Amino acid sequence: MECIVCKGLTEKKNVNYILDLNNTIIIIKDVPANVCTKCGERYFDDDVMENLEKIVNNLRTITTEMSVVSYKENVA
Ligand SMILES: [Zn+2]
Repeated sequence: MECIVCKGLTEKKNVNYILDLNNTIIIIKDVPANVCTKCGERYFDDDVMENLEKIVNNLRTITTEMSVVSYKENVA
């Protein structure tokens, strides 16, 4: 696909998705994304976004300061 920011080309890559919630930081490893080869902007497919939301919702009850999870292990 084409990058919305700079119109560069994107390539499929696994990235770490870092989310800063109120009192915890969630890191989801190896998330499939389209990454711009020029500016580094990241785009996630709709189904990936859905899965990320599910994973985050499952982790909301956790009270540790930081959670690191693997995307693959949390997606059926
Ligand atoms: Zn770009």
